[in-house]
Amino acid sequence: MEQISGQKPDMGEYIQQAESVLLHTYNRYQIVLDRGEGVYLYDIEGKKYLDFCAGIAVFALGYGNEEYNNALKSQIDKLIHTSNYYYNVPAIEAAKKIKEASGMDRVFFTNSGAESNEGAIKAARKYAFLKDGSTDHEIIAMHHSFHGRTMGALAVTGNAHYREAFEPLIGNVRFADFNDYESVLAQVTGKTCAIMLEPVQGEGGLQPASEEFLKKLRELCDQRDILLVFDEVQCGMGRTGYMYAWQKYGVKPDIMTTAKALGCGVPVGAFLMTERVAQRSLEAGDHGTTYGGNPLACAAAEKVLDLFEKNHIIEHVREVAPYLEQRLEELKDRFPCVTERRGMGLMQGLVFDRPVRDMIAAAMEKGLILINAGANIIRFVPPLTITKENVDEMVSILGQCIENA
Ligand SMILES: *Cc1c(COP(=O)(O)O)cnc(C)c1O
Repeated sequence: MEQISGQKPDMGEYIQQAESVLLHTYNRYQIVLDRGEGVYLYDIEGKKYLDFCAGIAVFALGYGNEEYNNALKSQIDKLIHTSNYYYNVPAIEAAKKIKEASGMDRVFFTNSGAESNEGAIKAARKYAFLKDGSTDHEIIAMHHSFHGRTMGALAVTGNAHYREAFEPLIGNVRFADFNDYESVLAQVTGKTCAIMLEPVQGEGGLQPASEEFLKKLRELCDQRDILLVFDEVQCGMGRTGYMYAWQKYGVKPDIMTTAKALGCGVPVGAFLMTERVAQRSLEAGDHGTTYGGNPLACAAAEKVLDLFEKNHIIEHVREVAPYLEQRLEELKDRFPCVTERRGMGLMQGLVFDRPVRDMIAAAMEKGLILINAGANIIRFVPPLTITKENVDEMVSILGQCIENA
């Protein structure tokens, strides 16, 4: 597109440009974001938005955290990337911290949530392979789960709409109903190598697992030497008021995946496992990544984990999340079109009896960024630094939008 010299394109012009060069895999909201400050975002025309999306549960610390930014800047000046054929200090420090925060023993750094789940699937298959030498093992995953868009992660994602056109995906995946132990049990065979799930389902509708369900799965896995794999990509990193959601339930997985808030915007994820699994699964040569665990990404993860502790992020979530819950309950009581509130901590959903896209667009007009989870659910995954005043501001704007819907 032509530019008048000295004059920047406006939002409409940028959007037009975007739609002529980017592959159209998203129906994007019609704003072009420019910068962030705390829990607020600004578009390129200077309009301010309260952000209850946080880049989809990513920007846990809020925007423009000086310590985080400085840690990245100084790492950029030192070394951004080196191969996994060598060691680097940020990866070692980040691994030690994530090990401590997660209670798991061994870490493999990746670049995304989907990739972390790919690694988890490979580790589970290798574990079973080493036991009996066969290669036809099965994984049980949940309906309404979301594990990412790559072929392996998609194969365990319980949403036909995401999968259908891309089949065949990796095989030997069976689906069961979330929070229904009997339906899982019905899918177990002598070939089952792993049961994989999110302790709190995110995309699938902000559905927490019941404690009884997870405890029974743990027992089943112990009895049959099946690996329990938790995808904590969205519900992990403090969002539930626990560093990882399983810690709230007291049900420890054999393999766990994390990403989203781990780097707070720098692409970094990880899959982790217990020492027992680590000794019996992936070995040298079995898995790799060029970027995964590079010094820049690990400097980010290390600093994020530092700041979680230093700024008492978990304690803050525990204080502010019940208030968000209460204010959302009030919206539910006030508006008959809201049928349910569910979720855990700062990972909440309001279920409507109608599609929410127009309400989200109206909120954006009024300077509030929200996202959906499925057609009828508004999802609340704000920066973990959100205050009660921010919650009030959000509820006040959203209330108006529901009223006019
Ligand atoms: C977002 C998400 C993923 C995929 O992460 P990407 O970084 O987009 O690949 C996987 N699992 C869960 C639970 C998620 O919320």
